[in-house]
Amino acid sequence: MASIIYQLIPKENGEENERYIGSTNNIIKRINNHRNHANHRPNACKSSIIINKYGISNIKYEILEICPEGINPREREQYYLDTLPNMNGMPAYKSREQKLELRKEINDRYRQNNMTRINCECGGSYLYANRHSHYKTKTHMKSDEKSNATI
Ligand SMILES: [Zn+2]
Repeated sequence: MASIIYQLIPKENGEENERYIGSTNNIIKRINNHRNHANHRPNACKSSIIINKYGISNIKYEILEICPEGINPREREQYYLDTLPNMNGMPAYKSREQKLELRKEINDRYRQNNMTRINCECGGSYLYANRHSHYKTKTHMKSDEKSNATI
């Protein structure tokens, strides 16, 4: 049976990260599930936060993707969790090893970003992690003044 990757968002005036992403092969049952959680066990699911804040009739659910058979819906769900702001607060992969692996990946990416050397408009270069102290250097501030003056 095909799975559905869906999102719950406020119909109006929602914050950017007020989005709950899930996957299911029975969307009607799953939506009822969210409603029941919100009413009776709000701590069981993060979706309760927006359902109770806006009211169920002010929440819309949208299908992000119909995941064909043979493709792991958790993988597709994770793709959306990684690319859209959301309130899930938990990866789609829930096994301990997978969580640890994800954590490691995030740390590695973070470290890598911080160690990236960036060539600055001022002619200097700096490590991303040290960008704030670079902005305060004389060379940088001087060139900043100059470019401000020509605007
Ligand atoms: Zn600079």
